[in-house]
Formats: sequence, structure tokens, C-alpha cells
Amino acid sequence: MLAFDYARADSAKGAIARATRGSDTRYLGGGTNLVDLMRENIERPRDLIDVTALSHDIVDQNDGGVLIGAATKNTALAEHRLIRERYPMLARAILSGASAQIRNMATVGGNLLQRTRCYYFYDDAARCNKRTLGAGCDAIDGFNRIHAILGTSPACIATHPSDMCVALAALDPVVKVEGPDGARDISFGDFHLLPGDHPEIETVLRPAELITAIVLPPTPAAARSSYRKVRDRASYAFALVSVAALIEIEEGKISDVRLALGGVAHKPWRAHKAEAALLGGPARTEAFRAAAEAELAAAEPRRDNGFKIELAKRTIVAALEELAA
Ligand code: SF4
Repeated sequence: MLAFDYARADSAKGAIARATRGSDTRYLGGGTNLVDLMRENIERPRDLIDVTALSHDIVDQNDGGVLIGAATKNTALAEHRLIRERYPMLARAILSGASAQIRNMATVGGNLLQRTRCYYFYDDAARCNKRTLGAGCDAIDGFNRIHAILGTSPACIATHPSDMCVALAALDPVVKVEGPDGARDISFGDFHLLPGDHPEIETVLRPAELITAIVLPPTPAAARSSYRKVRDRASYAFALVSVAALIEIEEGKISDVRLALGGVAHKPWRAHKAEAALLGGPARTEAFRAAAEAELAAAEPRRDNGFKIELAKRTIVAALEELAA
């Protein structure tokens, strides 16, 4: 690990001013991913700006939505009454991730920015375009059981590791950011990027921009929502496949449906094709299966991860059956 400077910010403006002045700076949340990466010399910041003293408020909005300060700890969010009542899929997704100790440290803002758990990304003897653009990707012809099946590129087949972000992808929140050029709102669906030719660029954040909050819109149908995660062991494991789902049924027809997948792509994957196939149709297993088939039709398996295609389909069907029942 390289030597670095450390400062604790007491305002977003102060944090941004310091980040703008310096080079090789990083904002530090709970450090549950960044510090690991620094120990492995994968990340080498010269200046850490601790933003954990900034907003950790969870605020009921007048319209029925909820604002979540970016420094909110994952545990506090999952246990909050407003989240458990209005967005149970989000609480379940958070509680299915990592360990209690890590959730107690990790922040909401940091969760959005965690890096892939691709083994080759963490191995500086391996070729990895995400670490060094143009170096190649040892995962493509290597051991790729945990890698992506949707939205990949010839440069990178890594997955996004977050559970929380899969639930957020289904809920269409806004990410509030501040930076040297002022504040702006980014819709969650636009926040993370697919790898394309530049897998090293993972979000649309500009230099020195800081996530300050996430605003969940009012979504009454989310009161009946779920998060289903399939993994190699019962706890402390990343998703092979996960599904965040909500469904609303009126007079036997699906009047609202949201589906997002984890463990299958470089970003939390909103299943738009499956949603379109389901909307207005019957809430039956055959329809769920057809929608899952539509979503996974474009999947590209590699040597070791073809099982994810059928696993994703079955997990979608199981999540929807649970809600429809
Ligand atoms: Fe690197 Fe992406 Fe290839 Fe993994 S899949 S080795 S992160 S380029």
C-alpha cells in the first residue's frame, strides 16, 4: 500500500474543493472495498477524503418518496421503517449482501461505486483491461464462472457486485451529485455504464463529483416486492444471479411490473424486455417463463458461465410466482 494523505470532510463543498485541488484523490466511505483495493495496490490514491460525516439522513418526502443521504450505513438503511414498509425489496437486497460487520461500515454512496469482484482484476499478474486499458482480459478465455452473460464487450466481461443496486435499478431513483460545476441529478438507470471499449470507466460521474443522496420515488406497488439471490453458499457470497421484482395485478392482468437482475452484467441489469412482455398479460407461470426467455435471448455464455442463463430464467420465474401468489 502506498502512503497517502487523509482528511475528514465536514461539508460536501469542502470535500469537493479538496478533491478539485488535488490529484489521485478518492472519496472514502466505509472503505469496505476501497481499502481492500489499496492493500492490493489495485487502487493507489494519494489523498483520501473521508465523507462519512456528511449526510446520513433518511427523510420522508412529501410525495411519498424517500431521500437517503449518501453517508447512510447499509445497516441503517435496511432497518429503517420507511424502507421496510415502502421498499421491502431494497431492505432484503441489502441484508443479503456481505456480512453484518461490513454492512455496519459500508455507505450507500460507496455501494454504488464498489468495483467488480472479477478474480483477474484483483490479481496484478493477470491481464485486465479495467486496470490497464489495452492489456487484454484474462477472464474471456480463463475461468469465468462468475462473469457476465449480458451487455459484455470484447474488452471486459466483469459483473457489478452490488445487491443493493439491483433493487435500486428496479425502483428508478435519482442519484444526486455535487461537483466543481454545481449539483445535478442522474437517473439511476444512467448512472452505471456497460464496459464497451472503456471498462475502466464505470459510471457517468465527472472528476471530483460526489454522490450526496439518492431519492426514491413514490412507488406504492413496491410494498409488495422481493429480492431473490442465488449464490454458492448461504451467506457472505456474491450473487451468481439475483432478481429484484415487483408486480401489481389488477383484474387478473399485470398492471405494473419491475424486474432487475444482478450477477449477469457490468451494471445492475434492468430487464426491460421481460417487463414489456409481461405488462398487460396474465400473471401466470407460462407468461413469466416467456418473459424470462425474452430477456435472456441475447445472453452470451462463456466457457464456464452458461449455467447462468437457465438460472436467471428460473430465478425470474420463482420471484414473480412468489409475488403473484
Ligand atoms: Fe479485467 Fe474485466 Fe477482464 Fe475481469 S473481465 S479481467 S475486470 S477486463
